[in-house]
Amino acid sequence: MASKGAETVTDVAWSKVRLVVFDLDGTLYDQPPLRRAMALELVKHSLLRRSLRTVETLRAYRRVRELLGRVQGDDFTNEQFRLTARRCGCSEGEVRALVEEWIERRPLAHLPRYKARGIDSLFSALRATGRRIAVWSDYPVIDKLAALGLKADHVIWSGDQGVGRLKPDPTGLLALLEEAGITAEETLVIGDRMDRDAAGAAAIGVPALIRSAHGGGKAIFRRFDDPPFAPILAEAFHA
Ligand SMILES: [Mg+2]
Repeated sequence: MASKGAETVTDVAWSKVRLVVFDLDGTLYDQPPLRRAMALELVKHSLLRRSLRTVETLRAYRRVRELLGRVQGDDFTNEQFRLTARRCGCSEGEVRALVEEWIERRPLAHLPRYKARGIDSLFSALRATGRRIAVWSDYPVIDKLAALGLKADHVIWSGDQGVGRLKPDPTGLLALLEEAGITAEETLVIGDRMDRDAAGAAAIGVPALIRSAHGGGKAIFRRFDDPPFAPILAEAFHA
């Protein structure tokens, strides 16, 4: 097992956990193959159009989002489009349309293929043992979750009313806990980014498990049937 990071746990105190909060992108599905599939679609699109405008706009948008995650403002939902438009010399409307098409809608068709292995069993085990499931994301959740064939008891994303903050700001997580009526001590966050998911959880005293496909020093687990989940799978299926 990988080394223990400051904000992560290797042994989950499952007896205390009543709510498991999953990140979505890169956690409930494998992100590298989805990125490759989308890159291929973008190449075809760019060749047909004989233009790199879409590629460049989306790249600028991703950079702006990363920046806004580090420098939290009060209006990221509009700021992300405004800043990207300024960088690309296009209109905010054009950025919004490209993001809607390429980041929200087109990936949906690919998602089922890249669903994380073992996630169905883990969701079933959590439910069978009386625990609730939530999803906390920086992007809209509902359509992606449906495309993955997964159901959560509570969902929230950074653009939701009353959140307006990107991870690692814990506002979204706090709102989830309030909605669920669950304390930080009874919660576990599972994500794929130390600097966003684990850091956001740590900000309000919630432990986190981090998924990484590549292993390495900070990886805590790779698959949803790895040792941290063994107790809950055993409790549900082999009791
Ligand atoms: Mg993620």
